[in-house]
Amino acid sequence: MTHPAQPKASHFINGEYVEDTAGTPIPVIYAATGEQIATVHAATPAIVEQALSTAKAAQKAWAKMTGTERGRILRRAADIMRERNHELSVLETYDTGKPLQETLVADATSGADALEYFGGLAASLTGEHIPLGEDWVYTKREALGLCVGIGAWNYPTQIACWKGAPALACGNSMVFKPSETTPLCALKVAEILIEAGAPAGVFNVVQGMGEVGGALVTDPRVDKVSLTGSVPTGKKVYAAAAEGMKHVTMELGGKSPLIIFDDADIDNAVGGAINGNFYSSGQVCSNGTRVFVQKGIKEKFLARLAERTGNAILGDPMDEATSFGPMVTENQMNIVLGYIEKGKEEGARLICGGKRADMDGYFIEPTVFADVTDDMTIAREEIFGPVMSVLDFDTEEEVVARANDTEFGLSAGVFTKDFTRAHRVIGNLEAGSCFINSYNDAPVEAPFGGVKASGVGRENSKEAIKHFSQVKSVYVRMGDVEAAF
Ligand code: NDP
Repeated sequence: MTHPAQPKASHFINGEYVEDTAGTPIPVIYAATGEQIATVHAATPAIVEQALSTAKAAQKAWAKMTGTERGRILRRAADIMRERNHELSVLETYDTGKPLQETLVADATSGADALEYFGGLAASLTGEHIPLGEDWVYTKREALGLCVGIGAWNYPTQIACWKGAPALACGNSMVFKPSETTPLCALKVAEILIEAGAPAGVFNVVQGMGEVGGALVTDPRVDKVSLTGSVPTGKKVYAAAAEGMKHVTMELGGKSPLIIFDDADIDNAVGGAINGNFYSSGQVCSNGTRVFVQKGIKEKFLARLAERTGNAILGDPMDEATSFGPMVTENQMNIVLGYIEKGKEEGARLICGGKRADMDGYFIEPTVFADVTDDMTIAREEIFGPVMSVLDFDTEEEVVARANDTEFGLSAGVFTKDFTRAHRVIGNLEAGSCFINSYNDAPVEAPFGGVKASGVGRENSKEAIKHFSQVKSVYVRMGDVEAAF
């Protein structure tokens, strides 16, 4: 019998499901059991061509609709997503292995927030009038054209909506390629947009590995590329986009600092460290994986952290009591286990976890290392799994310098009761998305994105509009034209 997660076909182009079985088969594996639940096929060159030509053809008429009309469709799609939240969350759990306890509140709901927010903004995208004596300039905010979205595997619904919603609000069309690891959820986003009234062809989904992404990025018809992925992929995609002078948004990896001063509320700080390391089993780009704890509270912090981490419930992700799921794939599990071994070899002190869980599926126990030093591999490289490194520090000046000593700059957090210090420290940290006495909140109203190697551009908020549109300026002369000859 066909598994309920199996989509009708691999791709969604011009308002309908499309199949081409000549493409390489991509098995979809449920991370909690290792069972194959679906198969899709990578896009062939013919499918890529169909998606790009369809999106190109659909864009102009979409951009000519009023912002109110476009916005209404996006907001209707948000309503449909909320009505189907349970069904979409189950699919997200099949796609990623993340527990239903999380997917019910963080995936289709976050996608719906983006559709609603950008749907609401669509009608307010206006230009300026700039008076110049009798003459004037007016500006128009115009769509970029055909945009490509490429997603990572950790938040397949959310990433499709975080890219698709602002792109469509501004009058662009999009071809979206999910990660080959999680191909299912973006298809539902495409289906729902059609149901909400979006014209066929404005949001299309094609499957495939990096080479399909590469074919999309280098196509001369494409005006913008928005990638969520790792830094090495980001460098390749950015370079390929530069070749065609395309706009880019790069949401890449991180190794973010979370700084806990000894006046912090210990339980809140522990909660922040848990949210910033173990949500989605640590597969979150903005995670605060370098937890700097001031020496005065170190042992108390570690004791409370170990106690609360022991309360994680590993198990069937479809059971809403489960609070901690598996790694997305066996390969990702092995990468993370390799980092855990490195941490042990390099002399970090294991506080809890540290191994694969004794159960089916790709589960790793939530792992905390203490006495981590700045030069250790686990303190320098993005692990993308449930491995928290706790480092000690003495002074504010010292910790800020150490926190900034990384190529990454996605997020940063600080826990302290001293608000002057909190704002000063955040002001001195090189990071794009920051938190004071909290960690990893990502409301659609707030800009999200990194500095340094963690990326360029911002998603969410009004900032995303700037990255999916461009300004035309028009000089209007009221008098005669003066010329030198
Ligand atoms: P990858 O960089 O491996 O892949 C990202 C996407 O790019 C995938 O769809 C991939 O396809 C595609 N891709 C790979 N090579 C190319 C290429 N040459 N041209 C075009 N597309 C290509 O990242 P992961 O999927 O492994 O995701 C994890 C990474 O994503 C982590 O580093 C994490 O920090 C980052 N991330 C960043 C976020 C942010 O907002 N800053 C949020 C979430 C994750 P395929 O995988 O099918 O080969």
